Amino acid sequence: MLIGIPREIKDNEFRVGLTAAGVHELVAAGHEVVVETEAGVGAGIADADYEAAGARIAPSAEDVWGTAEMIVKVKEPVGPEHALLRRDQVLFTYLHLAADRALTDALLASGTTAIAYETVQLPDRSLPLLAPMSAIAGRLATQVAAYHLMKPIGGSGVLMGGVPGTREARVLVVGGGMVGEQAAIMARGLHADVTVMDVNLARLGQIATVHNGDILTRYSTALDLAEQVAQADVVIGSVLIPGTRAPKLVTDEMVATMRPGSVLVDVAIDQGGCFEGSRPTTHADPTFSVHDATYYCVANMPGSVPVTATAALTNATLPYVLKLAREGWEDALRGDAALAKGLSAHDGRLTHAGVAEAHGLDV
Ligand code: NAD
Repeated sequence: MLIGIPREIKDNEFRVGLTAAGVHELVAAGHEVVVETEAGVGAGIADADYEAAGARIAPSAEDVWGTAEMIVKVKEPVGPEHALLRRDQVLFTYLHLAADRALTDALLASGTTAIAYETVQLPDRSLPLLAPMSAIAGRLATQVAAYHLMKPIGGSGVLMGGVPGTREARVLVVGGGMVGEQAAIMARGLHADVTVMDVNLARLGQIATVHNGDILTRYSTALDLAEQVAQADVVIGSVLIPGTRAPKLVTDEMVATMRPGSVLVDVAIDQGGCFEGSRPTTHADPTFSVHDATYYCVANMPGSVPVTATAALTNATLPYVLKLAREGWEDALRGDAALAKGLSAHDGRLTHAGVAEAHGLDV
């Protein structure tokens, strides 16, 4: 199969659909890969790296979209890319269609076969192509918090792990899923005092066991949460109730009880945020103050580490890309129920119930 990797054109997107290592695997399996020139530059991958891995470099987006049988991307097609969609092509990427009517209409008009990363779902209900970005956001949350605790940038002046003889920072993680556990691991790695709160007791049990009691756990009630927030130097918000807006668990009143210069990172901001005072921010202007605390609410945190994010994304998508290329999309989806859940549109029809419902359309 001929697989195309276009350059991402969405504002501030530096990731790319596949690494050179991913391209190498596809070429070794007998496929052809065409990469748009400079597609990998933002992620530290030069055209020469792709060529060395066996890809052909194309001078324009039209060359890639116009020839490839399958397009492998990162972000949903935007603006000028809508006109490049083709009926006889498979599009494999993050789509987030429920929130994007213009793209939904473009996919239906083009008749393209669109498979969304974010709805590929394993039998245990986990989302294997979203998980790597959650892991990155979780790890970054702690990194960002450690930075913003420093006094010259408005922080309280506590070092995450302290030094022997001093107190360490107290890090509270609200929501112990993929994001929360990774945030907790990084904070503990810096020798902070870390507590994870969740309403899923089984999940708290797993975290306590796997980390050998090193990460403390608390069942999350409003009263316990208020008590924990008051003592925390850092609060990381990472709750998710699938399909709904995040609940506003940490109130402004709770934040008013924290030490001045405390830091709150709301990773759940892409679902509306789980702190009362949260509003989405950007990498260019990532923070604002509520009472005397610093809030960081960037909705696309992994975008700031495109080298790691591109590699992590390729690791997760590559087995599916190889399967789609080897078997063709129809057989691949027939033989893989998890991948089949990703099919969003085909031949001018929506094939995903959630997306159709969001737009009042039929499947
Ligand atoms: P997850 O499903 O793995 O974990 C969510 C956890 O929240 C679960 O353990 C659940 O039990 C817990 N929870 C639900 N209600 C709760 C409550 N009332 N109190 C305490 N805990 C509660 O989800 P995830 O992959 O960790 O993602 C978390 C959030 O981070 C999502 O909104 C996701 O979209 C977002 N995210 C944001 C970015 C970003 O760049 N900002 C990147 C990746 C993920």
